Amino acid sequence: MSDPMQAKSSAYHELIEAMSQPGCPICRLVDRAVRQYVDVFFYENVTNVERRAEIREARGYCSVHGALLAGHARMLSVAIIQHDVINDVLREVDRVLPQTHTHCRPLDHLIGMSMRRTVLDAVKPKRVCPLCEYERDQEGMLLHALANEIHDEVMHQAFARSSGLCLPHLEALLQLRDVDPHHLRLLLHIERDILKALKTDLEEYLAKSNGSYDYAGMGKEADSPLRAIKLVSGRVLGRR
Ligand SMILES: [Zn+2]
Ligand SMILES: [Zn+2]
Repeated sequence: MSDPMQAKSSAYHELIEAMSQPGCPICRLVDRAVRQYVDVFFYENVTNVERRAEIREARGYCSVHGALLAGHARMLSVAIIQHDVINDVLREVDRVLPQTHTHCRPLDHLIGMSMRRTVLDAVKPKRVCPLCEYERDQEGMLLHALANEIHDEVMHQAFARSSGLCLPHLEALLQLRDVDPHHLRLLLHIERDILKALKTDLEEYLAKSNGSYDYAGMGKEADSPLRAIKLVSGRVLGRR
């Protein structure tokens, strides 16, 4: 007979592991997945024509995902990707903007209007950031795994002891179709307990945070404002 633990998906094991760490487990795993994706892409697939076209059409990655590239070891790949985008924008701009600057004449405002539209079209993304898209896929896969396995005793206990889902990932969970309502209800009960415990910690923190209180007397509520930032806002997502 096969070992039931063997049959569990890798998402199951990753979730259990992430739940033992601070913060929303989905945020943690999605962040790791995106960084791994960027590493593989920049080391191996930067010449992939389709992927390059997606990045061009998105006018590069969004600001959050773009910031991931700054510390990347493969600056050659970064240069290739960014050159692609800037080259494409400039090609559009050159179509409408004269090569030399001249002062406006009275009827030039109409030409100016269409020029502004063309340049705006050149700059505006024509598709969503590919890494945001990848992030959404990973989120969906992990949230499905969580919902499908929440009746599993190990998963149940791990989630109950975790920092819970951040509010953006709770929202994403609630928007998933095809989640068993019994599983969802159980998840929501656990999540509510976690939110209540954090609320109590914040209240304790507030009660002790008057001028006369000695901060050395703070207990587990000491870092509750920081925990609350993560739980309320979640991972800074690259939506634009
Ligand atoms: Zn999250
Ligand atoms: Zn993005």
